[in-house]
Amino acid sequence: SLTTRFAPSPTGYLHVGGARTALYSWLYAQKNGGDFILRIEDTDLERSTQESVDAIMDGMNWLNLPWTQGPFFQTHRFDRYKEVIAQLVESGNAYRCYCTQEEVEAMREEARAKGEKEKYNGMWRERTDYPEDKPYVIRFKNPLDGNVVIKDLVKGEIVISNQELDDLIIARSDGSPTYNLTVVVDDWDMGVTHVIRGDDHVNNTPRQINILAALGAPLPEYAHIPMILGDDGKRLSKRHGAVSVMQYRDEGYLPEALLNYLVRLGWSHGDQEIFSREEMIELFDLTGCNRAPSAFNTDKLIWVNQHYMKTLAPSYVAEHLEWHMKDQNIDTANGPALADVVTVQADRVKTLKEMAEISRYFFEDFTEFDATAAKKHLRPVAEAPLQLVKEKLSALAEWKAEPIHAAINATAEELELGMGKVGMPLRVAATGAGNSPSLDITLELLPKEKVLARIDMALA
Ligand code: GLU
Repeated sequence: SLTTRFAPSPTGYLHVGGARTALYSWLYAQKNGGDFILRIEDTDLERSTQESVDAIMDGMNWLNLPWTQGPFFQTHRFDRYKEVIAQLVESGNAYRCYCTQEEVEAMREEARAKGEKEKYNGMWRERTDYPEDKPYVIRFKNPLDGNVVIKDLVKGEIVISNQELDDLIIARSDGSPTYNLTVVVDDWDMGVTHVIRGDDHVNNTPRQINILAALGAPLPEYAHIPMILGDDGKRLSKRHGAVSVMQYRDEGYLPEALLNYLVRLGWSHGDQEIFSREEMIELFDLTGCNRAPSAFNTDKLIWVNQHYMKTLAPSYVAEHLEWHMKDQNIDTANGPALADVVTVQADRVKTLKEMAEISRYFFEDFTEFDATAAKKHLRPVAEAPLQLVKEKLSALAEWKAEPIHAAINATAEELELGMGKVGMPLRVAATGAGNSPSLDITLELLPKEKVLARIDMALA
């Protein structure tokens, strides 16, 4: 059956480029009822870490991109790679090369001097006069003539002449396999039918195809996805700010928003911008992927995030808000239901982090009012309106937005003041700040005694 894979090297966090590759691979498998493999390419022992493996899985779990097979670890498969290397040597498709560093360097020099591409010259291709006790590497015997044709599902047909490709090292002198060999063996053994990956790997593909052909293995389809660029047109990196998926969580984005943003970053379906998970699965196709790189645009991500904060079930958004409340040490044990906070704040903020920040007054008392707001609306104290509105509020039998609204109205009328002259001091008193959702709704979410006590504090 159709099988895709995500094959990160665990040398850092899951970045947005990797997440998008994972998403496309996951979507393509989902769409076709296939398998999605997670494969950890940890053969670089110096740079691979367990923390990074955990971080990658955390990111995929947070985005909810479940793999159906794996995780497989390349470091667990060395015996198999050695077996395949031996098989290639046996069948005459690979050979020992005893070149020294100096000899290889001399070949490079020579090529440079002639203005040619640096290439290993194949000097051990046909030799069998092996020296004793000397280190050697194993090289793949790349075909000398003909072309490799990649029918890339995103980029179209790519033709590479075999003359461009030299004999690649597939095993180092310590016997350890190199990257292109491990990928080929894994894609073959794991039955990968569709290799979807960043186009920084497109140069490896003809080599991988040649090795697969030498092994008599079926060729997968390839889809190389163009890079993600920063707003300066350079390849996206830490210089551009957040690049780790979990950093986006920390900054207050919903996983739905990041996924929706990423699916559109490099793929389109007409001019539709918002895709539910089900729609993504239904509509995604490799043929809709862009051939040109895409630039990461934080404003658009914010727009998508706002859409989801406003349209997903408040109780669901509240689960994510809760994380941010904890992150900001806001104790939500006492106070309104978080879903109600989401309902009143969702259209007022860019992120959940911001939502948590501006919702503190629902849960915690404060000892000071926002200085600017207080100066403008409280001091000299708005004594008359605050006194009267307090009387009216305390007399209310029912603590609901409508009677609260009526009490504020009646205060303004009685004192012949504009609504703002009552509402603003009351807002600053009750929330400590000059901004809040509609006052009647805000007050309803606070206990009555708390509101009255805060008015007293403002009057003191
Ligand atoms: N391990 C490679 C990387 O992280 C991906 C290899 C592949 O997808 O074939 O860039």
